[in-house]
Amino acid sequence: MRIVRFAKGDELAFGVVDGEDHVTEIDGHPFQPSFELSGTRLPLADVRPVAPILPTKILAIGRNYAEHAAELGNEVPDEPLVFIKPSTSVVGPGEPVVYPAASAEVHHEAELAVVIGRVCRQVPRERVPEVVFGYTCGNDVTARDLQRREPQWARPKGFDTFCPLGPWIETEVDASDLAITCTVDDELRQSSRTSLMINDVAALVSYITEAMTLLPGDVILTGTPAGVGPLLPGQRVSVTIEGIGTLTNPVVAAD
Ligand code: MG
Repeated sequence: MRIVRFAKGDELAFGVVDGEDHVTEIDGHPFQPSFELSGTRLPLADVRPVAPILPTKILAIGRNYAEHAAELGNEVPDEPLVFIKPSTSVVGPGEPVVYPAASAEVHHEAELAVVIGRVCRQVPRERVPEVVFGYTCGNDVTARDLQRREPQWARPKGFDTFCPLGPWIETEVDASDLAITCTVDDELRQSSRTSLMINDVAALVSYITEAMTLLPGDVILTGTPAGVGPLLPGQRVSVTIEGIGTLTNPVVAAD
């Protein structure tokens, strides 16, 4: 099932995508044991999708693909390298990534994004499927020049608009071995498979919840494969994950 969140006039609503081109509105919130459809069915082209969820926090994983760690001259860490992106960095499909004046080197990072469905803490590996609501595409946009200078990554990875998510949450896909790509203006930059993650989704959720409670809608960005590179104002960046969809965002200069 594909859960989309969209703007309809002044309101935001959740819906279920049926086929590729229609959406049926959900009554209330999809993060419940069961939910009802309102019966309102709209062409997908007539609604404006927004970020499929507003997380209270985004946990992101550094250096979780060996070839990516190597391309930036880093070792693979012994344990997952976890950092936080602020909720205010989230934008949805089609919304611009704003290139900040403070950076001269902004990079794309295509990532599988895990969406948590239940309040959970200290989740053992084997119970992780119970707390995962679904998956979407993420882009861990990074000011690489600032990241090299600043030992904490909150600022380099935390600018407003630096966390595109979407286009929807796919709740039924097996995410263990999916093709993941990133294109910039149709040039293929990243192409890999989620099976190449060093720490898989179960390991990451288990490790993170050893430390902190995750809430429904919280997002885990699972790390980027090799091929990261620069974005420039005027370009369009797309993250595509097999079985999930494509997340496209334009890049614009700051005012
Ligand atoms: Mg990343």
